[in-house]
Amino acid sequence: MADIIRLLPDHVANQIAAGEVVQRPSSVVKELLENAIDAGATEIQLIVKDGGKTLIQIVDNGKGMSGTDARLSFERHATSKIQKAEDLFNLHTKGFRGEALASIAAIAHVEMLTRTEEDEIGTRIKMEGSKVVAQEVVVAPIGTSMLVKNLFFNIPARRNFLKSDQVEFRHITDEFHRISLAHPQVAFNFYNNGSDVFQLPANDFRKRIVQIFGRKTDEKLVPVEEETHVVKISGYIQKPEFAKKSRGEQFFFANNRFIKSPYLHHAILGAFEGLIRPGTHPGYFLNLEVDPGTIDINIHPTKTEVKFDDEHTLYAMLKSTVKHSLGQFNVTPALDFEQDQNLDTPYSYKNKEVGIPQVVVDSSFNPFEAVKTSRGNSTSNYSKPKVEGWENLYLGMDMSIDGDNHSNLEFESEVVNSSIFDEGQEVVDHTTTTFQLRKKYIITTIKSGMVVIN
Ligand code: ADP
Ligand code: MG
Repeated sequence: MADIIRLLPDHVANQIAAGEVVQRPSSVVKELLENAIDAGATEIQLIVKDGGKTLIQIVDNGKGMSGTDARLSFERHATSKIQKAEDLFNLHTKGFRGEALASIAAIAHVEMLTRTEEDEIGTRIKMEGSKVVAQEVVVAPIGTSMLVKNLFFNIPARRNFLKSDQVEFRHITDEFHRISLAHPQVAFNFYNNGSDVFQLPANDFRKRIVQIFGRKTDEKLVPVEEETHVVKISGYIQKPEFAKKSRGEQFFFANNRFIKSPYLHHAILGAFEGLIRPGTHPGYFLNLEVDPGTIDINIHPTKTEVKFDDEHTLYAMLKSTVKHSLGQFNVTPALDFEQDQNLDTPYSYKNKEVGIPQVVVDSSFNPFEAVKTSRGNSTSNYSKPKVEGWENLYLGMDMSIDGDNHSNLEFESEVVNSSIFDEGQEVVDHTTTTFQLRKKYIITTIKSGMVVIN
């Protein structure tokens, strides 16, 4: 039999790879946004039309590309982010597989405009179905603009498989949420069919959450913070009373990358157990920072499924950290009868404003200066410090105990035999008086003072 095995031409191989990397317009948005982040952009614009089917454009102010790099970037396995296999275990970039641009260019019309800071003139490249149809030097701002038109123009079956514009737009929005939450320090603008969707200035994580999910979200958030040698957990959970019927506001980020993890999600559910109604889902926005050597991101082309080295420990830590935060912020039901009364605010200070303690110093006070007493003999100032206004210390303090006034205390005159204190407690004075108060307390005098027995 004649040999039948052949190497597939590049454009076919790219189209096959695209099948994994690009499922729908939102996959393109994800890959291009991640490239912009990896390029160090501080400002990124996302422009889409018709759910991304007709147009997706991403403009960044990142480091841009030289003319040669711009051309090479569309080759399969062309990347600036890793060089050797070991680099896979020390990843600090979103991308590393070098196949996104090759895949996208295989199934769409792509136009790239890019310039680096060092170059005075930029590059414009047009690709159609893996072929370069134009390359020229042009005037361009620093950074990169990627225009992706007519997705799946050459694969009708895939194009027909796409959902309505609204559904595709929702997928894009989900992707936008994930990336903009993972990078709150980057400013994002998002336009759909010519109108604003999001204008997000650079911010901290909490404010970014509020920017995206609305002002009301702020009061729902409870901070989560824990650092161990395995993981640093930070972020926010939503208070249990805001758990929703629909899933949606659940975000795990591992080293600034959105990840899906049903296993870790289960840990959160465990922490919320008993606090939310069955069938409702708690919201969370949690960052897990781990050593890049302990996480494998390369188990799926879309890189949202990852493998942690020590998943069981992570599970336990996440569960207890979230539980702790829920308890600390008093969102778990309080068990009053178990509360230590000693921790209560003293009766007289309850419901009172707390003032700043003040120290009044008499700056003219001189302990060595002699003062004349009314009787004419002089005495040292030191022996008679001025403690004026000491009564003020007790101002505002209700002197009554539990509403009882001391003068109202009834003394039941039932005299108890004082001999019970005779042994060992040598009572010299036999005129000792003993009272019983409310059939509960015995009050008596002894040599050195008084004893109250409950
Ligand atoms: P990967 O991101 O996995 O490296 P891509 O196909 O997404 O692969 O991109 C290939 C290369 O093109 C990147 O490694 C990067 O050097 C370059 N590149 C892509 N997008 C940009 C961008 N927006 N700005 C600067 N360089 C980019
Ligand atoms: Mg990439």
